[in-house]
Amino acid sequence: VAGDEKELRAPICCILGHVDAGKTKLLDCIRGTNVQGREAGGITQQIGATYLPAENIRDRTSLKAETAIKVPGLLVIDTPGHESFSKMRSRGLSMCDIAVVVVDITKGLEKQTVESLHLLRCHNVSFIVALNKVDRLYGWKECTNAPIVEALKKQSDDVKSEYKWRLTKVVTEFKENGFNTAPYYENNKKKKVVNIVPTSAESGEGVPDLLLLLVRWLPDIITDKLAYDDTIECTVLEVNEHKDLGTTVDVVLINGVLRQGDQVIVCTKQGPVTTIIRDLLTPHPMKELKAKGAYKHHKEVRAAQGVKIVARGLQYAMAGTSLIVVKPGDDLRQAEAAAMQEIDMAISTTDENEKGTTTQEVSSIMTCKEGIYVQASSVGTLEAIIAHLKSSSVDIPVYDWNLGPVYKQDVMKASAMLKRKEEYAVILAFDVKVMPEASALAAESGLKIITADTVYRLVNIYTEHIKGLKE
Ligand code: GDP
Ligand code: MG
Repeated sequence: VAGDEKELRAPICCILGHVDAGKTKLLDCIRGTNVQGREAGGITQQIGATYLPAENIRDRTSLKAETAIKVPGLLVIDTPGHESFSKMRSRGLSMCDIAVVVVDITKGLEKQTVESLHLLRCHNVSFIVALNKVDRLYGWKECTNAPIVEALKKQSDDVKSEYKWRLTKVVTEFKENGFNTAPYYENNKKKKVVNIVPTSAESGEGVPDLLLLLVRWLPDIITDKLAYDDTIECTVLEVNEHKDLGTTVDVVLINGVLRQGDQVIVCTKQGPVTTIIRDLLTPHPMKELKAKGAYKHHKEVRAAQGVKIVARGLQYAMAGTSLIVVKPGDDLRQAEAAAMQEIDMAISTTDENEKGTTTQEVSSIMTCKEGIYVQASSVGTLEAIIAHLKSSSVDIPVYDWNLGPVYKQDVMKASAMLKRKEEYAVILAFDVKVMPEASALAAESGLKIITADTVYRLVNIYTEHIKGLKE
């Protein structure tokens, strides 16, 4: 990089908003993929991280080759919108440089939009509003992937006037929540007044505008924050049981470089675990970290990036905590002490702004003498299931939990309830395989194993099952 211009890393951007506002669809539209269509019940159940290289963004926005993009790309994090997932949303947010709040233009601000605004204020994160589904305005003339001002010019007077009053309504609703907003093309005080970008995730209008704001305007206002730094900053998003790779952790590398062979410390409920990075995997660019496809192997990965780490001893890593790299010459004891401090904090602090479970609640639920057994593919989903089980309408205690496939041992453990309380003699298995020996043993002993592809269905089947028992 020439002169005294700083090298910048990719900004990290989080997508928030009410369920069905179009968060996943918008991300799909940007990537040219179709995750939304493949999601179980159309619900995003985990945090996904997608890297968009600057060159793809250039194509997508028809930027001229000579127009500089100062950042190497953009790392986008999509979060689940359902209520039980508020802890995951909070986790995604804490590492973001900017958020995109998606609002359905036909609905205006909704419950989780307001909750998102509250979180953004708490974490002091700036945001842009994507006023989505403009193609739903009655009589909208489709202008595929056009910049929004151009698309608006082509609309009839009726569409223009409906657009105007709906926009005004949304601006008023933001005002009521304490935020000044304006459509970005009329916004002269971009630093003070929040930008609104009208979009359609269906036909792509306004999407170039949104991308341009993220890669051209944003780096100018937060240059210092984006200055690349060798100090490693890395947060664990998810712990996953992968059928070929074993336990892996998905992390967001915010700053610095991770290398194969690096000695790292992860925070677990049992204390710091020191291990060696065996492999670093990323999805192919424009694909999502959680998408189950082929991965690219790397010797090293440079921030900002979403990375899947393969190493031993990751099973109990706590989502939301740091991954610490121990460099040659670093004091291992000191690094472990730092990890221990973080573990203590993660266990003891209950974020006032979070409604979901905390790590402590997860471990105290574990000690419940009577309750059901929950098994999931990742800590994030496990927490979401537990939060949903605890929510006022259902309130089901949890006896124990595990990650990964359901084995005989799990059935044996869960079977303890057969003698104590029959209605709890159940394993709720989410997104995991049930081994044949496990199903056989369960059938023999009378333990019920329930599987479903959404958290909501899982809990519904269970409540139906209890009703059946009582009748
Ligand atoms: P999320 O819950 O916020 O992730 O919402 P999704 O991306 O799953 O979208 C919810 C529904 O709205 C899906 O049926 C989408 O196809 C639809 N949708 C999303 N964005 C748009 C849009 O811009 N225009 C139209 N017409 N439909 C949209
Ligand atoms: Mg979604």
